[in-house]
Amino acid sequence: MNNSNSDCIFCKIVKGEIPCHKIYEDEDFLAFLDIHPETPGHTLIITKKHFKTMLDLPEDLLCKIIKKVQKITKVVLDITGYKAFNLVVNTGKDAGQLVDHVHFHIIPRIEGDDRKFYIPPIKYKNKQEIKKLATKIKNSL
Ligand code: 5GP
Ligand code: ZN
Repeated sequence: MNNSNSDCIFCKIVKGEIPCHKIYEDEDFLAFLDIHPETPGHTLIITKKHFKTMLDLPEDLLCKIIKKVQKITKVVLDITGYKAFNLVVNTGKDAGQLVDHVHFHIIPRIEGDDRKFYIPPIKYKNKQEIKKLATKIKNSL
């Protein structure tokens, strides 16, 4: 069952078993301020149902959540006075996902905030390698 996971901290927040600073709620989604904010207004948007990652979301919820992200982000930026933000969706343990319940981070940004979300680039061995990879992916889509 996807509805709720008794071990999941975000499911507990949905059920009201753990408090949060809620900023938005409807039948599908909940948004609240992150407990360890990167910047003021750092917000998490989650589904009320338990899905592990965005790859597990049914298409209708995925479409709906991205619309909510846009709506909520505009208000968070307006209220905080920030004009830039990072939209972060850590997906999988290796990418830094600590809570296994799909969530979108909205992290307001401003010059000089000293936050770093930079991943240094790697280099492909040669042009052949990148061409082969692009072709393989393209042919599978
Ligand atoms: P992840 O690394 O999984 O993308 O991020 C999980 C986020 O959830 C972290 O930024 C963390 O601060 C936040 N978080 C974890 N537990 C709680 C909680 O109980 N309440 C709130 N408001 N945020 C939480
Ligand atoms: Zn959950």
